[in-house]
Amino acid sequence: MILVLLGPPGAGKGTQAARLSQAFKLHHLSSGDVLRAERQNGTELGRQVARFMDVGELVPDDVIVEVILARLEQERAAGGFLLDGFPRTEAQARSLDRALPRSGRKVALTLSIDVPDGEVVDRITGRRICPACNRVYHVRYQPPASEGTCDDDGSPLVHRPDDTEEVVRQRLRAYHRQTEPLEAYYHRQGKYTRVDGTGSVEQVFEQLSAAVREHLARLGDD
Ligand code: ADP
Ligand code: AMP
Repeated sequence: MILVLLGPPGAGKGTQAARLSQAFKLHHLSSGDVLRAERQNGTELGRQVARFMDVGELVPDDVIVEVILARLEQERAAGGFLLDGFPRTEAQARSLDRALPRSGRKVALTLSIDVPDGEVVDRITGRRICPACNRVYHVRYQPPASEGTCDDDGSPLVHRPDDTEEVVRQRLRAYHRQTEPLEAYYHRQGKYTRVDGTGSVEQVFEQLSAAVREHLARLGDD
């Protein structure tokens, strides 16, 4: 089963993906995490995408499509996937729809987490991440047990350089212009479900998992 999480930056995609991937035994693939790892490793790809990420613009479609499709191919044995942050444009969604059938797969369902822009800014500016395991925290809403330290592996937490208010505003512009039209794209395919993302992490998780269970009951593990 291949699920896609949609929603603005800061909606809670990564937070929910960690839970959903465990609950439904899916492999969590975050395009942002993949790109940040390339940058951390100092690869040519990492250097190429840095100037887009730093200002809150999307990296070119051909670049991200090649990287993510290669991962989906390499890790096919992993079984189902939960895609987080990809696709982010209609061109990316079309590339995914063209590529998956070659290995007998397709997107089963997209889940959109709906959060207003004002709340996104608050969530993102307070976000901290573990650079080792990518676990997501928030200084007020999801604080670690010990300030500034990952609960899982003890690494010092970091504030992403693109998690400033100025860059978030640009990322929101990119989201509304380039990613929001994907909702209609998947709606036309009968694969679109929207949930209210403003409740607690638990409440949002309940809505998302109910949608996945409903899909499984209706169409099975396709
Ligand atoms: P995304 O992957 O969509 O960019 P994240 O999962 O990284 O979003 O969440 C953004 C920030 O909001 C994080 O700091 C996270 O701890 C916090 N967060 C996530 N879900 C909720 C929620 N339901 N209520 C309050 N804060 C949340
Ligand atoms: P994220 O971690 O999802 O917030 O992504 C961080 C940054 O990585 C974005 O602001 C983009 O610059 C880039 N990025 C991640 N995924 C994509 C994608 N599917 N298409 C284009 N750019 C992406």
